[in-house]
Amino acid sequence: MDPIEEKKEDALWFAVCQQVKNLLPTEMERNRMDRYFPLMRTHAIEGNAYVIGVNETIQEEMFSSLYATLISEALQMCGREGLTVQFKVRTAAESSPPVPLPRPLFQDAPRPAVATPVAPRGIPSTMQLHEHYTFENFVQGPSNCFAYAAAMAVAKSPGTSSYNPLFIYGGSGLGKTHLMESIGHAVMKRAPNLSVCFITSETFLNEFINAMANRAMPAFRERYRKVDVLLLDDVQFLANKAQFQEEFFNTFNSLMLTHKQVVMTSDVAPKDLKGCEERLTGRFQQGMVVEIESPSYETRLAILKSKAANARHLVPEEILRFIAENIRSHVRAIEGALNRVVTFMDLNNNLPLTIEIAQHLLKDSIEEEKTIKDLTVDEIIRTVATHYSVKIEDILSKQRTQTLVTPRQVAMFLSCKLTTKSLPEIGISFKKTHATVYHGAQTIQKCLDVDNELKSAVEEITAKLGRRLTDVMN
Ligand code: ADP
Ligand code: MG
Repeated sequence: MDPIEEKKEDALWFAVCQQVKNLLPTEMERNRMDRYFPLMRTHAIEGNAYVIGVNETIQEEMFSSLYATLISEALQMCGREGLTVQFKVRTAAESSPPVPLPRPLFQDAPRPAVATPVAPRGIPSTMQLHEHYTFENFVQGPSNCFAYAAAMAVAKSPGTSSYNPLFIYGGSGLGKTHLMESIGHAVMKRAPNLSVCFITSETFLNEFINAMANRAMPAFRERYRKVDVLLLDDVQFLANKAQFQEEFFNTFNSLMLTHKQVVMTSDVAPKDLKGCEERLTGRFQQGMVVEIESPSYETRLAILKSKAANARHLVPEEILRFIAENIRSHVRAIEGALNRVVTFMDLNNNLPLTIEIAQHLLKDSIEEEKTIKDLTVDEIIRTVATHYSVKIEDILSKQRTQTLVTPRQVAMFLSCKLTTKSLPEIGISFKKTHATVYHGAQTIQKCLDVDNELKSAVEEITAKLGRRLTDVMN
């Protein structure tokens, strides 16, 4: 290309970059731009198109959905109207060295105030929010405090915080839906002009199928792309539904591009969503991913006290403690136990509620809890690593320093006690032989009787895993 023409193209690209940056409302998006734009290697006007060269097809697709509209807007602002923006994979020979981003220009450039998006009225929430699922009724504890904080941040400034999308994951009955709906309630209270849509993935899929059958896809798209806050529950349901994933990917990208908030829940982390396209799970991780874990004894008791405060009867504290000690798996089971006790009080007004009666009433649930051995070895290794502030890969390594041997053996011990996996299976997870696992677990078992420091560490880790010391002591 003529060197003068080349200079002009570069100048245009610089100006476009500056405009795009001005259009992006959040720090996170501007940071993301700093990462992505240097990957756009060539920029040239070809006929009616502004063609941007990239190295890989995935970039072509991703940048197009993320930035094509914005770049086109920026081109207009630079006086280049009517150009379509195209991303194309360019071979190395076609690529010139990347033009660096004009950083200093961006940093001091005045940024226009971003208008609060006003949603068209009349878009109903697809599903009714549960009246009690509010922040006020959600009990915080170590198992859910990060998720709670992230949810509060999103509720305060939907679409503009760096928590977009917010992805909440964790086992069943641990409060994911409750927390997600709390965001909905809070946003509707704070900013009634914003449209909030709460929907389960299953209902979303059904609507999609109906829209396809009735040839009503444009209306379906329009409806979801106009919401300000999309709360999508149980996204694991997207698994193995390629066409639906494609549709959701487009809706998701469109919402992100227009700075609308997306919150999702799932029973597993995005990276473990089996049967989901990587481009989708990759995008789920671009905002904030938070886990809700099993509640500790203290949190279980606090939840019980909060629920009991609204009950029809005054449930004695010792009964609440009994439930918190014995029902540990998830909050839904804890609520079930409390309901059973309250129903008993309803029916037997004159009979004082004793531990023996509670024991009898909750016999089946307590038995069920004993058989729950659903922890995974990976979950145990992760919790142990966090407790001792060591890296997972170091626990799995061959290094034999004492700072690693103890965590490694504690993780082996807990894996033997709290999972149904065999020694060889546990060995595979640790990249060790079954004999090493056996030796490690035995060492900890013996030390627990004499080493109080170790015992309290094991107790703390077991509590973090939602279990009790007695579960691992025999
Ligand atoms: P999930 O969506 O994770 O399966 P839910 O949000 O449906 O779980 O929660 C199950 C029940 O437990 C709900 O009734 C919810 O109100 C209650 N619950 C869960 N966690 C808490 C908490 N931290 N504080 C108060 N209630 C909770
Ligand atoms: Mg749920």
